[in-house]
Amino acid sequence: MVTFIQLTERQRQIVEIVKSKGPITSEQIAGLLNLTRATLRPDLAILTMSGILEARPRVGYFHSGKPAESLIADTVRQVLVKDVKSVPVVVPDNASVYDCIVTMFTEDVGTLFVVKEGGVLVGAVSRKDFIRSAIGKVDLHKMPVGMLMTRMPNIVTTSNEESAYEAARKMIEHEVDALPVVRPINNKGLEEQLEVVGRLTKTNITRLFVELGEGNY
Ligand code: ADP
Repeated sequence: MVTFIQLTERQRQIVEIVKSKGPITSEQIAGLLNLTRATLRPDLAILTMSGILEARPRVGYFHSGKPAESLIADTVRQVLVKDVKSVPVVVPDNASVYDCIVTMFTEDVGTLFVVKEGGVLVGAVSRKDFIRSAIGKVDLHKMPVGMLMTRMPNIVTTSNEESAYEAARKMIEHEVDALPVVRPINNKGLEEQLEVVGRLTKTNITRLFVELGEGNY
């Protein structure tokens, strides 16, 4: 979990003082604010830990010159997929297109991940795929979803430890609404197989954006 930097009024004042008068010692800052050094210590610790100020022994505090945007970028990149993901909704590859459409409605999701035995990822299927199938003359009850899905190795995936930022970039770049969160299955020497352990959607990213905006992260 990361902490989004929201400065208090006093911390803002300290930053302004250091910007205009730095390098400056904590004693001098305390003097200008009519406070003791001990009172300022936690504020100075927060400001240096967050990278806004830098401290050098015997020189004092100075402004790091890092623009606010790059501090926000640092924060955003620290949030991991595992912090924001949802549980996956999966269907077996022999499920009928009809049953998958029902699952999509009952589970209230826009993308289903398709798995074979052992929870191994074999494909993904989304609303547009079902709309396409409705245009054609297919028997929704008879056709297995495996005939319709986008299949591996063309599935764009993410992992628990990837940054939510990197995963969001993939969604934009590949123009998809959801990524399966996967981890490799240890199957000694055989071709790499992936197990689905979660679902990352544009909704997760929107929720993260709102949380960041509210200073909750
Ligand atoms: P929608 O159908 O709501 O527009 P998407 O834009 O996510 O949803 O899906 C567009 C196409 O991309 C569909 O054909 C779908 O099968 C495929 N798709 C969905 N998710 C992925 C993914 N993670 N990787 C690769 N292809 C995907």
